[in-house]
This record gives sequence, C-alpha cells and structure tokens, in this order.
Amino acid sequence: MESCNATCPPQVGIYVHVPFCAQGKCPYCDFYSVKMSGEVGREVGCEVQERYIESVERDLQARAKDACSREINTVYFGGGTPSLLGEGLARLLFCVAENYKIEKGAEITFEANPKTIDYDTLLLLRKSGFNRISLGMQSAVQKELDALGRRHTKEDVKIAVENAKKAGFDNISLDLMLCVPGQTQKSMRESVDFAASLSPRHISAYILKVEKGTRYFDIKDTLNLPDDDAQADMYLAACEAIEEKGYNQYEISNFAEAGFESQHNLRYWNCDEYLGFGPAAHSFFAGRRFYYPRGLEEYIAGNPPVQDGDGGSLKEYIMLRLRLSTGIEDAEMKRRFGVGLSFFDKGVIGSLEKSGLIKYLPKRLSLTKKGFLVSNSIISELIFR
Ligand code: SF4
Repeated sequence: MESCNATCPPQVGIYVHVPFCAQGKCPYCDFYSVKMSGEVGREVGCEVQERYIESVERDLQARAKDACSREINTVYFGGGTPSLLGEGLARLLFCVAENYKIEKGAEITFEANPKTIDYDTLLLLRKSGFNRISLGMQSAVQKELDALGRRHTKEDVKIAVENAKKAGFDNISLDLMLCVPGQTQKSMRESVDFAASLSPRHISAYILKVEKGTRYFDIKDTLNLPDDDAQADMYLAACEAIEEKGYNQYEISNFAEAGFESQHNLRYWNCDEYLGFGPAAHSFFAGRRFYYPRGLEEYIAGNPPVQDGDGGSLKEYIMLRLRLSTGIEDAEMKRRFGVGLSFFDKGVIGSLEKSGLIKYLPKRLSLTKKGFLVSNSIISELIFR
C-alpha cells in the first residue's frame, strides 16, 4: 500500500450490505432486500448470490488502494439477512483481510435471522474471524412476531443464542421492536425479560416507523398504532426496563454492558469514516459521502457509486453526536471544528435545559431521555439558531 496522507484519521470501518432475505418482504421493512431464490444454508448455492459475492470482491479489491495504510477496526455485514450467505460471508471477510489491514481485535459483526442460522454455520463464521453477531429478535410475543411477519419464534431466538455461544461468540446483540401493533407495556416487558434472560451483551430497541413504500404504509390506518404520547410512554418504559437489567443506554436506541457498545455503529454517530459495499451501501470517506443505489443487478453490472456531497460538517457532527448519551464534548468539538460548545445560543440552551430536554455541563452537552424522543426538533433549534 502507498503511504498515507498524515491528516487522514488512522482507522476506517467497512460495511457490506447483503440484500438477500428468505421470506420476501416483512411488512414494515424499508431496507433494500430481494427475496432469495436459492438454497438457504451454508452453500452459496444460487447463481445470483455467487455473482453478488464476486461483485463485492471486485469492489473491495478496487477500493483497497484508497484505504492506503489506514487500519480497519470494524467490519459490519448488514442486510437483508447476511447469515443466508453462510460460507459466502467467510469468503467476503477473507477478501477484506487479503486487501486491507484489519486491526488486531477489530469488531467483526454479521446480522442474522434466528430462523436461518445453524450451529455449523456459526462455527464456520466464528473460525473465519467473525466475533460479533446481531440477531433480529424483535419480540418474544408470538402475536407480535406474527404481526411483524416474522417467521421465527422466541424458541428459535433461544436456540440461535445458545448455538452462537457454543460456537464461541461472546459478543451477541439482540434487536427489539417497540410500538408494534398490539404491543402493551406488559408485553414489551415480557420481551425485555426474555431477551435479558439470554444474557446478550447488547440490546437495541427501535420504535417501529411506518415508512412510505412498505406494506404497513398502505394499511397504516388499520394497524391501530399508538399515538405520539403512547409511543413516548412505551419508549421511556422500555429504556427503564432494559436499564434495570444492567444495560447502559449509550444511544437513543442502543444499550450495552460496559465495553460492549457497537464499535461500528459508534463510528456513524461519532461522524467517523467508513467504506460501504453492495447495493444500497453508503460510504463516508475522505470527506465525501457517496452510495451505491438500490438495485442488485445494477450493482453487479458495476454501476459506480453516486456522489452525495461533502460529509463531516459541523452540523452533521452535532446531529449525529447528540444521538449518543455522552453527547458533545467541548474539547473534542474544538479539536475537530475550532469551535466548542460556545457555538450554541445561550438562550436556546437555557430554555431546552429548563424543559428537561438537554443536560448542559460546562464541558459537555447531551440530550436527556425525554430529549431523545424529540431529538430532531431539538437539533434543529440548536443548529438553526
Ligand atoms: S428479514 Fe429483515 S431485511 Fe429482510 S425483509 Fe424482513 S426486516 Fe427486511
């Protein structure tokens, strides 16, 4: 590799979007995914998957010179359902390792559906270098799983976690969904209790968002979804329930045991750089944002990424950092932008603090839990002063 510009940050992350799903489309899902038409399991098995893997390998190799001597300290395979690729994932990780300098102890994650991951695949992936797994649990209540169109049961989640541990995964994350049709605070607590009983290191809890283009969007009036106040109550109750189990909230929707915060996702919220591969994957690299459009065939055909302008501005940094419980630290903001917390209007800060939406210490600004609920409007107030 050529020598690097001394001003480059020393590390960078890699994200690979795996667009295959076994079950078509979940009714709430807004991620880019295509129904997998091949065999589910360890073998790559189907021709389009093979062409996809070759295309990601092509782009990983082509971009390697850009990374220069920067070390890769996080690799994340998201989807879709990356676990469906089975040993194809190991092949892609091998390609990353062959072309980039992976830091010792780097966090290497793949997302999995509890229904489509077995012990042999887990063992193979652990041996090939993966050390973190993120499982889409969503709920432990069958009627909520049915409403979400999920094919797995809570038993499948339990088996997947047990198999992952047996295969040597110590760093396991479970995703939960809040404000699912029919969910009550009692049933939410049931899901939190069940998740915590499996002792994952990390729990994510996302409020269901009905996005345009999803099946839920077309029928949203029939879903009987909670209104804003009920959503806020559910969110605050979920934060409390998860924290009671010993997980520390470090981001709006993320909770972890100490030292098990998602290093890859922290990269996004810290406004640090990453390279994305695969259809619909975004990158922030060398101060620029760019992405591959949705479209598997276009990606395979080698269509180049679309440029999306400069990244890493002060406003972007404020928006992203305020998602974190630690918020913005004065010295770090000064180091990166030459201006610290004095950037913010004192009057706006005072009134947000009085409303219990932010915490303002002389050296740090962060949102409270109540503030997390209305983060977008707080951020606009702070930025567009
Ligand atoms: S399995 Fe995940 S990525 Fe696939 S359709 Fe369902 S929610 Fe979307």
